[in-house]
Amino acid sequence: MVAIIEADCTGCDLCIPHCPFEALLPLMESPPERTKPKRPIVVVESQCVGCLSCIGSCPTNALHEIKSPPNAKDSPLLHPPPPPATEPVNRWKKGGLRWA
Ligand code: SF4
Ligand code: SF4
Repeated sequence: MVAIIEADCTGCDLCIPHCPFEALLPLMESPPERTKPKRPIVVVESQCVGCLSCIGSCPTNALHEIKSPPNAKDSPLLHPPPPPATEPVNRWKKGGLRWA
């Protein structure tokens, strides 16, 4: 899987179209302690399959690989936490990103 170092994420959105599983989405609201002007991107764990397609897409290296817990029963892929409130991303409609 991947994780994002929130302090390093500028919210530039460049990584979003690199995820074919729509696991990289903008948080609906910035956390109150955030100092950057734009809201961060988060990894929706229930969507991320660990393909690493996104890993080189971040200009600030905020995206990095993490290992799932060795005990598969504890894997977040099997027991994902509730997804965070995220903004919808328009990929294919008029004005959308137009790539997966
Ligand atoms: S590419 Fe990096 S800095 Fe930009 S939104 Fe994605 S994680 Fe954040
Ligand atoms: S590792 Fe793959 S599924 Fe997970 S966020 Fe990156 S591109 Fe999406």
